Amino acid sequence: MKIDYLIVGQGLAGSLLAWRLIQHGQTIRMIDDGRQNASQVAAGLINPVTGMRLVKAPDTDRQLRLARCFYRHLEGFFDQTFFFEKPMLRLLSDEKEQQRAHKRCQSPEYQRFLSTILPHYPGLHSPFGLLQQQQTAYLTTKPLLACLRQWFKKHGILINDRFNPADLTLSTPLTWRGLTVERLIFCQGHENLENPWFDYLPLKPVKGEILTAFSPLPLIDRLLNYGHWFIPLDKHMFKSGASFDRDTRDTQPTARVRQQLLAHLERVYPTAAAHAEIHQHQAGIRPTTADRKPFIGPHPVHKNIYIFNGFGAKGSLQIPYYSQCFIRHLLHNHPLPTDCDIRRYA
Ligand SMILES: Cc1cc2nc3c(=O)[nH]c(=O)nc-3n(C[C@H](O)[C@H](O)[C@H](O)COP(=O)(O)OP(=O)(O)OC[C@H]3O[C@@H](n4cnc5c(N)ncnc54)[C@H](O)[C@@H]3O)c2cc1C
Repeated sequence: MKIDYLIVGQGLAGSLLAWRLIQHGQTIRMIDDGRQNASQVAAGLINPVTGMRLVKAPDTDRQLRLARCFYRHLEGFFDQTFFFEKPMLRLLSDEKEQQRAHKRCQSPEYQRFLSTILPHYPGLHSPFGLLQQQQTAYLTTKPLLACLRQWFKKHGILINDRFNPADLTLSTPLTWRGLTVERLIFCQGHENLENPWFDYLPLKPVKGEILTAFSPLPLIDRLLNYGHWFIPLDKHMFKSGASFDRDTRDTQPTARVRQQLLAHLERVYPTAAAHAEIHQHQAGIRPTTADRKPFIGPHPVHKNIYIFNGFGAKGSLQIPYYSQCFIRHLLHNHPLPTDCDIRRYA
């Protein structure tokens, strides 16, 4: 039997890419070992204006538009909501950040994203005020991936197993376990470090821990960004996170980080933290890259083997956009955006 694409990994990257390829009439098989991945742990936060310098990357408008459109399409298909748009309050940390926020609010380029600075907000401790952000959202990745997984299974697309490089014969076309495969695409997240064809790329995995908790007191209906972040899932449940640890590569949650996350939340939002009952404490590994840009494109020698990876801490915003760019490259030979093209490491 002959297929167009074999995709390794059913995280957000592999799943959204497979979905787009199927919509373009391509025949697909996916292989995933079913372990908990970064995509299932992720908070799915989408925040177009980020960092100490409050910067919006040049492609953000387009990325946001495509993300909204793609997630709304999937919501329609599965008759379930995954993409929740909610304003965010960024708690300003000092006078310098306050001045920067004032400047940004006056810039026409940022006006769709930043509205105003509030001196205070009920229930929050923020001596330097709060910046009101718009166009912020979160994606509930776990139910979205569960729906996609079920659909892929039902249509005989998903193979629940581990991909072993020894099963592949390098030829044109490729052969794998009796299948003739036109193209192979690796979407392995941080496990790319063990990939014999793409391990030369500078992936810098970052472990993150995240809490899901219940608050007996009603929560404010805003996303919060205070170095860490806070997401109210409903009136009483919330998520808070996430830590950044560049030195550890296990997925074990730790008591130390749990304490740190709760202590930080308590400083800014005491009523939510003080009575919080922790329901879940998870850890995952972000597939972050040295230059913070994704890894997309064909292998320099084996042109029918590709990578689609490196979405770091921004998978929810970036994967819909870059999957579209990648599809245009695969199906119509359009050049890839230079920022993500792995030829930068040739
Ligand atoms: C704590 C935490 C919080 C985060 N918060 C956010 C956030 O708020 N917003 C945001 O946009 N992003 C966030 N992220 C980042 C987000 O998770 C990633 O950008 C995105 O999910 C990466 O998806 P992926 O498909 O590339 O990787 P993964 O989700 O890791 O998927 C890779 C898949 O490949 C499979 N695989 C690998 N090797 C093999 C093999 N040999 N055989 C079979 N299967 C294999 C794995 O089992 C896995 O299922 C967060 C991440 C973490 C850990």
